[in-house]
Amino acid sequence: MKKIVILGAGTGGTLIANRLYRRLWHQIKGGDIEITIIEPNYWHYYQPGFLLLPLNLITEDELRRPVKELLPEKIKLIREKAEKIDVENKQVNLADGDKINYDYLIISTGSRLNYDEVPGLRDGTYNFYGFDEAIRLRETLRNFREGTIVVGVAGVPYKCPPAPIEMSLLLDAYYRRLGIRDRINIKYAYPLPRVFPIAEAADMLDPIMRNRDIDIHLFFNVEEIDPGNKVIKSMEGEELEYDLAIMIPPHKGSDVIINSGIGDAGGWVPTDRYTLNMEGHDDIYVIGDATNLPISKAGSVADFEAEVIVSRLIDQLNGHTPMTVYNGKVMCFVLTGIGEGTILLFNYNEPPKPVPPGFSSYWLKLIYNKLYWSLTAGSALVEVS
Ligand SMILES: Cc1cc2nc3c(=O)[nH]c(=O)nc-3n(C[C@H](O)[C@H](O)[C@H](O)COP(=O)(O)OP(=O)(O)OC[C@H]3O[C@@H](n4cnc5c(N)ncnc54)[C@H](O)[C@@H]3O)c2cc1C
Repeated sequence: MKKIVILGAGTGGTLIANRLYRRLWHQIKGGDIEITIIEPNYWHYYQPGFLLLPLNLITEDELRRPVKELLPEKIKLIREKAEKIDVENKQVNLADGDKINYDYLIISTGSRLNYDEVPGLRDGTYNFYGFDEAIRLRETLRNFREGTIVVGVAGVPYKCPPAPIEMSLLLDAYYRRLGIRDRINIKYAYPLPRVFPIAEAADMLDPIMRNRDIDIHLFFNVEEIDPGNKVIKSMEGEELEYDLAIMIPPHKGSDVIINSGIGDAGGWVPTDRYTLNMEGHDDIYVIGDATNLPISKAGSVADFEAEVIVSRLIDQLNGHTPMTVYNGKVMCFVLTGIGEGTILLFNYNEPPKPVPPGFSSYWLKLIYNKLYWSLTAGSALVEVS
């Protein structure tokens, strides 16, 4: 029997589990292949919805499902944390002391928020990069009717690069709807010399933000936040005063990557940009945020990568040389207000050709929010027999 072990049941992990199940159900039912997924959390969250929750554009119930409801019965779920990956012995050590052997390993442990990198970040700011964090921001925004809001990035890397722009533009639209936009000052603080990492997209988004009276502060690398005086200080010597600071913490990789000594300084796994193998290991694949690839950390990336990994793994199981490769494809819906958005499509070689915002991208994103549970996570739940 061949054993496939998946670490983490977030976007990438559940995608791989469901797609492998659809392709290999016969061998799984016959006992030739076993798929195990290791995840300590009870809930699987649909993270793009965290952007909408603070403004009441989505409800909590739409954002989460129990992990076990997203997996076919024949996939074994272990509710435990992986402590160490032992690549020599092809084994994963769990927090409860158990050791799980694998023939093939998929690392889909995502990223986590690193508050400790910036003094004052944890106590002085809000963000929308977690379920509880988004609810906390929603409760604050309910009563926030006057003053300065800073939306910014407190350090790189961070997932979903357009999210801070989207939040600035959604806040603009929200306060215009309430008829009190003139009482709210929105500032955007970003570490790069443009509003978005990719020049083609930045050129389109920058004038939209300026036309909506968003005050843009570029080259703003956060040094510290002083919650007592409500000031954000940059390494470049600039200071931004705020009444409400919505700052995205820098991210780092899962501690299992760091504990296992298989990651770089940020805890990202060195990954072959085409095969998606962990460098030097044909039996280990890496998907989603956990890779060190120079592309956006995004759910769409995990989706495109899952296709490649599933295809390559099945070739390996059948004794064939895997040929499918990843071309760096990324797809981002970017909301530019309530009821309007645009789409960015690009890959390793081709930059995005931005299209002017319209209503269709907004609604496509909202429709996908509902389809996620059947198209992406949980896609094999209509059991094949
Ligand atoms: C506000 C916001 C908006 C976003 N919007 C978009 C968008 O519009 N489009 C888009 O494509 N992407 C978007 N994203 C990004 C997207 O959600 C992530 O990039 C995607 O979920 C990454 O998938 P992943 O599987 O790599 O990680 P995750 O989905 O985060 O899953 C990682 C899993 O690994 C588990 N894990 C970690 N360590 C261990 C361990 N030691 N043992 C076992 N399990 C472990 C975690 O508990 C978690 O369940 C957004 C994200 C946020 C926060």
